[in-house]
Amino acid sequence: MKVPFSKVTCAGNELKYVTEVLESGWLTTAGKTLSFENKFAEKVNVRYACAVNSCTAALHLGIEALGVQSGDKVFVPDMTFTASAEIVRYMGADPVFLDVEYGTSLITPEILKKAIAEHPDVKYLVVVHYGGQSAEMLNTSGTGIMDICRKEGIKVLEDAAHAFPAKLGGRMVGSWGDVTCFSFYANKTITTGEGGMLTTNDEMIYNRVKIMRLHGINRDVWDRFTSDKPSWEYDVVAPGFKYNMPDVNAAIGLAQLEEADRFRDERQVVAERYLEKLSDLEMVDLPVSKVLPGDHAWHLFPVVLNEKSLISRNDFIQRMADRGIGTSVHYKPMHRLSYYRDNYQLDPLNFPVAEKIWKGTVSLPIFPSMSKEEQNYVIDEVRKILYP
Ligand SMILES: *Cc1c(COP(=O)(O)O)cnc(C)c1O
Repeated sequence: MKVPFSKVTCAGNELKYVTEVLESGWLTTAGKTLSFENKFAEKVNVRYACAVNSCTAALHLGIEALGVQSGDKVFVPDMTFTASAEIVRYMGADPVFLDVEYGTSLITPEILKKAIAEHPDVKYLVVVHYGGQSAEMLNTSGTGIMDICRKEGIKVLEDAAHAFPAKLGGRMVGSWGDVTCFSFYANKTITTGEGGMLTTNDEMIYNRVKIMRLHGINRDVWDRFTSDKPSWEYDVVAPGFKYNMPDVNAAIGLAQLEEADRFRDERQVVAERYLEKLSDLEMVDLPVSKVLPGDHAWHLFPVVLNEKSLISRNDFIQRMADRGIGTSVHYKPMHRLSYYRDNYQLDPLNFPVAEKIWKGTVSLPIFPSMSKEEQNYVIDEVRKILYP
């Protein structure tokens, strides 16, 4: 048997909507993108959604709209994909990396409070909802990450690349922060091949993002081809970027969006089974979920081979591959990547939790169409490898 690490489910209206685009005679940003934005905003329950060609583009537009300047400092979790930090460098600003919590790989209000005490000059925060679980942005005692940031005047950029559809206390991720960015990359919870979405309730941020998404032109492409004004006439108000989402991709996104809740439910079934069937393994630390069962997007199922494990993470991955099972690692922490390590003189001793996670972490296959047989195979082989 072969079990891939992840697999896209594309069995809904994807073909129908893409065909509509191909037959329309206009393949880039137009009605399908607009419709995708509107439906996404409705789903997340937010005022504005802006479709772009990647989550990295959304993060770049978001951090630009928040007003980050060259020389500013920005808190970024150590345990994330490099995109969360590179966008800080795009602005000429500098990341200040935060160690994360064991079990969730998230930053917590406590971690943030300690970081603020050490770095009172930092006025921006990138939050990563690692694996599909929302960080503790809000809580009933008013001491969540958002509460702290509002009090301290820190602006928040949410990297929700893993977290659609995810909630916290029943509220959708993307509906409460300053700016939230989602990814529709090929292996994310819903996909457009490549793509991303930025959501915000702030009209000023939205207006800035819309202009910067398309060369700093003060009118949308779609607008150029639908309004009564001559289509050649436009003004440029800033040196913007080329980040718009083509309609071909938006068509796939619209179809994926229709299935998003079902995909999430199916991933949750897989996650709950792993949690049940692997809970007795002393060598393995399972991911900790602190949100309500229906609130987790379960993009990843990362386990950590702990100090009791007799085999290394790398050997484990090789043996899983020998048995036809795909796995991955999320992530090599930022402080170990040479660019950041060397330019910021990062010392592993300052990131003890991320170090511990990194040494043993491996993500098991999880995807919506994963069969019970496939999952049983993974579970059995994990046991055989760890307890020969
Ligand atoms: C995938 C990912 C991104 C980047 O998404 P793209 O759509 O590929 O640009 C950013 N942050 C995290 C945490 C990711 O996993």
